Amino acid sequence: MTDMKKPEIPKTLSILGERFTVRQQSGLQGNEGDGAVDGYQLGHRIFIDADNSTSRKWRTLLHESMHGALHVTGTQSELGEEMEEIVVQTLETHVVQFMRLHGLAFLDAIKGDS
Ligand SMILES: [Zn+2]
Repeated sequence: MTDMKKPEIPKTLSILGERFTVRQQSGLQGNEGDGAVDGYQLGHRIFIDADNSTSRKWRTLLHESMHGALHVTGTQSELGEEMEEIVVQTLETHVVQFMRLHGLAFLDAIKGDS
């Protein structure tokens, strides 16, 4: 599948009921990795490296949305920066593997749930 046929990165994201804006920006590599998330004070913004492939952008969006969820719940301040990154990387890897194996079945099974 070419990049042209892959779904676009959304411009906004709802994370646990909070609205985040998603910005694609060049030159994040080496600075913030592939993405970054700002917390409450800076206005709920997620940055995604604009130069990456669409699949990499989606993985970054998932990763940064997990940081966002930890910000929204206040869990991030309990973890500390280093542990937060370990938790997010672990969950990102797990969720991607889970979705690869069971994603369609999972979505079908929970269809109609609130
Ligand atoms: Zn991270």
